[in-house]
Amino acid sequence: MDYSQFFNTALNRLHDERRYRVFADLERIAGRFPHATWHSPRGSRNVVIWCSNDYLGMGQHPKVVGAMVETATRVGTGAGGTRNIAGTHHPLVQLEAELADLHGKEASLLFTSGYVSNQTGISTLAKLIPNCLILSDALNHNSMIEGVRQAGCERQIFRHNDVAHLEELLIAAGPDRPKLIVCESLYSMDGDVAPLGKICDLAEQYGAMTYLDEVHAVGMYGPRGGGIAERDGVMHRIDIVEGTLAKAFGCLGGYIAGRAEVIDAVRSYAPGFIFTTALPPAICSAATAAIRHLKTSNWERERHQDRAARTKAILTAAGLPVMSSDTHIVPLFVGDPEKCKRASDLLLEDHGIYIQPINYPTVAKGTERLRITPSPYHDDGLIDALAEALLQVWDRLGLPLHQKSLAAE
Ligand SMILES: *Cc1c(COP(=O)(O)O)cnc(C)c1O
Repeated sequence: MDYSQFFNTALNRLHDERRYRVFADLERIAGRFPHATWHSPRGSRNVVIWCSNDYLGMGQHPKVVGAMVETATRVGTGAGGTRNIAGTHHPLVQLEAELADLHGKEASLLFTSGYVSNQTGISTLAKLIPNCLILSDALNHNSMIEGVRQAGCERQIFRHNDVAHLEELLIAAGPDRPKLIVCESLYSMDGDVAPLGKICDLAEQYGAMTYLDEVHAVGMYGPRGGGIAERDGVMHRIDIVEGTLAKAFGCLGGYIAGRAEVIDAVRSYAPGFIFTTALPPAICSAATAAIRHLKTSNWERERHQDRAARTKAILTAAGLPVMSSDTHIVPLFVGDPEKCKRASDLLLEDHGIYIQPINYPTVAKGTERLRITPSPYHDDGLIDALAEALLQVWDRLGLPLHQKSLAAE
């Protein structure tokens, strides 16, 4: 039996569909974000990263790095066990308290990643609710889709951010059926935001529970960085908030926060929580430092929004096809997988600008894009250089520009 052929066939399929992924070998330079070294096939080069999810540069903040180093030096590296078997260490307990406070909830529970928190969190919650019907937004992240799938219960998909469709499904389910609404607050490929107030209204009216992924909003929105739910004043109406420590908090790990009995039940039943080693103490201390800093410092949030707005304005004025976005995400429309990959390659090789192409299946076919994420540290000079580089690449690939007068509208 030629087993290799199975894998080669699978890989060739990706090459044929122009969605074989190539990773850039990067080395970030602490204190110089967004500058990094790219270990290219032809040697090392300095590049500017324009697609990092370390949205606020907290992964290099002196307080965060300091906390990580101090804790590793004091208590060592690994947790040494699962939560149940010697792995519940003090920095982790402190971090869970910090997260519960961030979201104004009774308790929180930490997982290895945001992915795992959705996958094992959603499936465990839904399995504990008899005859649960899951109502899931059409554009939910893969980790939520996997959580819903593993729940094994009935699920219905509502059109993206369409509260009228959600209401139809809630009515059809009837008042006696337990229902779990699963959605994100900020969808990171388009940069649009869910109508959380209306979703909470519906959940209360029709007796549904709500599970909200705030992965792309925690740290960045709300007066204390609690997310869109905090910004919109609906945090207390959301049953379960899920977030990551790996994006704006610059570390690693995921969590859910909610009422004590809900969190205790997930703690007690979720396989993806129980049967894996706890996060290392140094990571937990670093995450706590990042959360604490962002609870009181607004500088990063304000500067982040300012940089995103300027990037959108400069690129739009240059005639580049910036897709409309209400948030810090700046998607640039390409609409072709081959050209999207080529644009990304040219930016990196000719201009030292790193923006990973976003192709199917992350986004729908025909909507391939460059997803740009300005941070507080992308200064005016970097933004202007980005616009200039993009114009050259657009010209080289024959990609369309808007009329400048139209773009200004
Ligand atoms: C990145 C992401 C996750 C996963 O979080 P990690 O901590 O990176 O595993 C979950 N949900 C959404 C919407 C994401 O974009």
